[in-house]
Amino acid sequence: MLIGAHIWINKGLVSAVETANLLGCNCFQIFLQNPRSWKRKRRNSNEVMKFREKVKNYKISPVVIHMPYILNLSSPDREILKKSRELLEYEMIEAEQLGADYYVIHPGSHRGAGIDVGIKNLVESIKPFVRKKPEILVENTAGHGNTIGGRWEDFVYLFEKFGGDIGICFDTAHTFQAGYDIRDEDKFLEMLEMIDNKLLPKGILVVHANDSGSPLGSHLDRHQHIGEGFLGRKTFEILIKDRYIGTLPFIIETPKMDIEADKKNLDILKSIEKRYHRL
Ligand SMILES: [Zn+2]
Repeated sequence: MLIGAHIWINKGLVSAVETANLLGCNCFQIFLQNPRSWKRKRRNSNEVMKFREKVKNYKISPVVIHMPYILNLSSPDREILKKSRELLEYEMIEAEQLGADYYVIHPGSHRGAGIDVGIKNLVESIKPFVRKKPEILVENTAGHGNTIGGRWEDFVYLFEKFGGDIGICFDTAHTFQAGYDIRDEDKFLEMLEMIDNKLLPKGILVVHANDSGSPLGSHLDRHQHIGEGFLGRKTFEILIKDRYIGTLPFIIETPKMDIEADKKNLDILKSIEKRYHRL
């Protein structure tokens, strides 16, 4: 099973790969810098080289980079949009240098300008980076306020434009918070079929495996430890035993307490995998 965690890089990129390896991850996700700041420091080329070397030695694949929260790629505000696009460009160059496979973006907020305006801005924002490395994955959201991506239909235009040159990052907690009851296997399969038909067959390429700290349809983005939230362990059994979803990288973004908490969450997923795939 492809299984990993979002790892903090406060001790540097090389230490992050080591932590991933220590946790038994064969894939992982990082931010490149402080996700709530516009400021960027230039990265030392030696660190980049060492990062790539470690990733290769530990056979970690895919390497996933997550966009900083501060960007709004669908903003109607020209200034914010410009700043966001400039930072995205900076990030994409760095992600490519690091040999990352996927770059996960949040679709952003239209801030009341309307979903069509937001999506059009989003399309223009990611256009320069499509068909390049790393591949852009759009993450679904809890659909709070004017946030785009709470309904899978929000992505139709995006996939009409870019087809299979982009992919989807499916966040289990956001999906549930947005109103899709994936605790029910029939409803989960119905949702997958809808994604296959309306967006792109097999368009989901990464799973953010998080239990939900808030109820169905609450539109509140709260992550919880696996098995301790509103989704419960049973939901992750449904996902892992699915013939397609179960083959994808599962990356936890559960609350960061300590390394033991990450380990415990990963162990639960691994034990489900053992049961259903009989490794
Ligand atoms: Zn996520």
